[in-house]
Amino acid sequence: MLEVEGLHAGYDNLRVLHGIDLSVPAGHLLAVIGANGAGKTTLLRAVSGLIRPSAGTVTVDGRAVDGLRPERIAAAGLAHVPENRLVFPSLTVADNLALGGWTRRRSATPADRDRVLDLFPRLRSRLAQPAGTLSGGEQQMVVIGRGLMAAPKVLVLDEPSVGLAPRLVAEIFAALGRLRDEQGQAILLVEQNARAAFRVADRVAVMDRGRVVTTGTPADLAGDDRVQSAYLGGG
Ligand code: ATP
Repeated sequence: MLEVEGLHAGYDNLRVLHGIDLSVPAGHLLAVIGANGAGKTTLLRAVSGLIRPSAGTVTVDGRAVDGLRPERIAAAGLAHVPENRLVFPSLTVADNLALGGWTRRRSATPADRDRVLDLFPRLRSRLAQPAGTLSGGEQQMVVIGRGLMAAPKVLVLDEPSVGLAPRLVAEIFAALGRLRDEQGQAILLVEQNARAAFRVADRVAVMDRGRVVTTGTPADLAGDDRVQSAYLGGG
């Protein structure tokens, strides 16, 4: 559903990505982990068109999208949930969700909203509440839900766990797992929280200095001493 081949990208004179290959089929969750500055956020920005790749291809649902503007890539079926967790604070939860439908060629339907509320039931009782009054975890649910309102083929998320209590992280990651299992959603998840990512991912890619240095199932990688000590805090 998402294919990335030979992707190079960066900022002005700084080359950050040096040829990234990855593939996320339907019903699959790929987690990308790596140290600060490895280029994980840059990867997602290059995939979603917020920065223009200098080389390589990005394919969403069979369509080449590299070089297109972000709104065209969104219309091709990619939803990007960025790191900053921005809701429109004075708008209600319902209105925040409704805004996510705008990237779609037709408006989001009540069925789209029901899908989101089934996934994040605690938002149902807060639909009329200004989004700025929600907890951090609930705001993260709104931002993910807003992305899902566009019924994307591919959902990409940048560190959704940052700053959240472990219970909320577990709740959000469980929702991502359900989305994959029950709806066949293709998900690309960038995470610092490797332990949480390992619990939900089908495969994990480890990035270092702009390259994918290892890929495997969580079980494979948990058995790798270097991955253990660098990312899982064990020995
Ligand atoms: P983190 O986990 O800390 O968010 P990351 O793996 O997501 O790290 P990136 O944010 O992609 O890493 O950053 C990769 C490199 O690109 C870093 O050296 C960073 O300083 C640089 N960089 C990021 N954003 C910009 C920007 N807007 N302009 C210039 N350089 C940038």
